[in-house]
Amino acid sequence: WAADYHAGLRERPVRAQTAPGDIAAQVADSPPELAEPFERVFADFARIVPPGMTHWQHPSFFAYFPSNAAPEAIIAEQLAGAMAAQGMLWQTSPALTELETRMTDWLRQAVGLPEGFAGVLQDTASMATLCAVLCMRERALDGRGNREGLAGRPAVRIYASGQTHSSIDKACWISGIGQENLVKIASSPVHPWPVDVNAMAEAIRADRAAGRLPAGIIACVGGTSIGACDDISALVSLAREEGLYLHVDAAWAGSAMICPEFRSLWKGVEGADSVVFNPHKWLGVPMECSAHFVRDPDNLVSTLAIQPEYLRTHGRDGLINYSEWSVTLGRRFRALKLWFLLRAYGLEGLRERLRKHVRWSQSLAARIAATPGFEVVTEPVLSLFSFRFAPGGIEDLDALNLALLAAINDDGRTYLTQTRVGEGIAIRFQVGPFESTEADVQGAFDTVLEISAGLMAGRGA
Ligand code: PLP
Repeated sequence: WAADYHAGLRERPVRAQTAPGDIAAQVADSPPELAEPFERVFADFARIVPPGMTHWQHPSFFAYFPSNAAPEAIIAEQLAGAMAAQGMLWQTSPALTELETRMTDWLRQAVGLPEGFAGVLQDTASMATLCAVLCMRERALDGRGNREGLAGRPAVRIYASGQTHSSIDKACWISGIGQENLVKIASSPVHPWPVDVNAMAEAIRADRAAGRLPAGIIACVGGTSIGACDDISALVSLAREEGLYLHVDAAWAGSAMICPEFRSLWKGVEGADSVVFNPHKWLGVPMECSAHFVRDPDNLVSTLAIQPEYLRTHGRDGLINYSEWSVTLGRRFRALKLWFLLRAYGLEGLRERLRKHVRWSQSLAARIAATPGFEVVTEPVLSLFSFRFAPGGIEDLDALNLALLAAINDDGRTYLTQTRVGEGIAIRFQVGPFESTEADVQGAFDTVLEISAGLMAGRGA
């Protein structure tokens, strides 16, 4: 079924064309008392679920960031499921733990991080960033936050650019640090929009003078909106001067670092305390698989390890228990899908895909820039850029672009999403599906041209 599904993706609309409630209406209100034949269960899946899905691996999915699932990695996911693997401790799944150590080290080498970084596979980048923020908090409070709470203490402060992902805000909520203690600093208006490091340094000093407690910096490489990249070397220097923990969020762009020519985007990263990127986005590993590298695992272990008697492993001291590097106790066998993927394609096979995506994206951006009535709003970072439909004589360009986007996504041939750049709405375009071709990329803009012409004709323009 999966192979046929993959082969037939082009025949499906990219974004689900269902109305809210359509799918729920096809599923019984209550669970069955008696077993049903599996054939009936499977037939219902095949009938009800795929039409209610947005097809992330559709070759014309250019929205958000990608979610790919290479066939070989899907098999690994099934095998892990067949073993009901649970890797909270070394002894609960030794192969899981040892492959996780080996695979994160393969990834470390693949993206050019130096020896000395240790890796763990979290479910998502949000979770890795939460772990990083908890480490920042505990480091700043000498481990007293977990024991005594935050009440009555100076405000713990985290610094980031306004281009960082909302998972950083959430990590500050969940860690008890609070939204108001996440200090967002303006970024440069110039591509690739790095945060203003001098302004950040001033904010840190002002906070210290006011009795607040600076704890960490979160840097952004390939921000979600337009691909913003901070100057990591400058942030490393600042973090060192101020004794702060530096976490780098490269959730999407990190996969591209398997290509040495893109590594200038995170130059200086070897000086960070932790780095996260998601092989489950661009690289081809199915959800969930987030590679979290740390320079000193003791930060994680001293923040997150807890050992009631039922979790103690007498006589097995010194082995890695990855639940002590994570928020959750139970954890899946994520390394298996990495092992299968990396061996089935090789780094060269994966690099070739990513390089093509970047090239196609750049050539489409150039075509759009040369198309009357359209403008490129932000130039590409890797395979992400944004554009706007801007025919002359229209006052409300935001409304026009939102109407265009709705019409494109209702049409179903391609799928795009919007962002805000400065005051205006822009349409994001990001190439990432495993099986996209250059014709799919160019064809998506042919669709945009056709639909925008229809929209203007409908307005009598
Ligand atoms: N950071 C960035 C830059 C992202 O683009 C995203 C998601 O797209 C995330 C973090 C959150 O990733 P996850 O869904 O793995 O939590």
